[in-house]
Amino acid sequence: MLTDLKDLEYDELADLLADSGEPRYRAKQIFSWLQKGVESFDEMTDIPKKTRENLLETSFVSTLKIREKYVSKIDGTIKYLFELEDGNCIESVIMRYKHGITICISSQVGCRMGCRFCASTIGGLYRNLTAGEILNQVIFAQKDIGERISNIVMMGIGEPLDNYDNVLKFLHNVNHSEGLNIGYRHISLSTCGVVDKIYKLAEENLPITLSISLHAPNNEVRKTIMPINSRFSVEELLEACKKYIDKTTRRISFEYALIHGVNDSMDNAAELAKRLKGMLCHVNLIPVNKVEERKYDKGSAADIRAFQDKLLSLGVNATVRRELGNDISASCGQLRKKVL
Ligand code: SAH
Repeated sequence: MLTDLKDLEYDELADLLADSGEPRYRAKQIFSWLQKGVESFDEMTDIPKKTRENLLETSFVSTLKIREKYVSKIDGTIKYLFELEDGNCIESVIMRYKHGITICISSQVGCRMGCRFCASTIGGLYRNLTAGEILNQVIFAQKDIGERISNIVMMGIGEPLDNYDNVLKFLHNVNHSEGLNIGYRHISLSTCGVVDKIYKLAEENLPITLSISLHAPNNEVRKTIMPINSRFSVEELLEACKKYIDKTTRRISFEYALIHGVNDSMDNAAELAKRLKGMLCHVNLIPVNKVEERKYDKGSAADIRAFQDKLLSLGVNATVRRELGNDISASCGQLRKKVL
């Protein structure tokens, strides 16, 4: 079995090279080549031929192929369907904001969390992405657009905390000063609420932004749309969030997809406000995206506004997420499913 060099953390790469008698600075050179999206060792032109030949015996450089690419005519959002080396496909999205270019990346092929409104989980989990495959989305999108990506949201296909070790390794590598050097503060990780892993993540003490896909103010509503709620209740989830805030002093972002007639009543808003009041947090309201196989609909603009106003009036910070890439079905899971 050959090792994908992008599955190694910087220090592991340095050790591997040192073991075969390479000088310390070699790790820096090779790590930096990897981030440029080279597709073979031959492209590493300042690495001696002998070193490259040695590397070939134990390792390889993984790549991603762009299988499909769509560019929104409305806002320049780009959606990629990337093909992995085993033929599986994942999606990544580039969004252009005033504060820089953000990429939304996937963490698994498929997902086993089963959220009822979500396209990514139809068909279940195929497999975890490796650390290298997660990183490759940033590397190859950046190579394709020729501009620096400054922000990352782990909100694509998959549940990042269900692939904990690889996601952690990826975070360390993408943040590394010899690598893409993307600051932890510019990275958001979104979870449906795998409580034990939230505690574990708090211990890592990385200043990333944690997003929680809450989508309901109580167990009655949440259990009808999110199976994870039968493992961890809303109370347990919010308790973990409080611990996370205490430990990291980072503000948590709660995602709330407004589904008409399911979780968008004024009572729901009031209950949500009561639960979150006083927490260092922000609520991100998302008009639910219509997925073909799902029966859920979003409310009118007025309904959404009313929900937001209710939260604000009760002292909870809330914004409505701008919809980008509407003309290219930019929301994750939809494209991969079509190709499958
Ligand atoms: N598994 C992680 C990250 C991926 S999903 C999580 O659950 O957070 C990214 C976000 O999109 C989540 O908040 C998810 O609940 C939301 N989402 C999924 N399907 C959606 C839909 N049809 N409309 C609106 N938001 C949706």
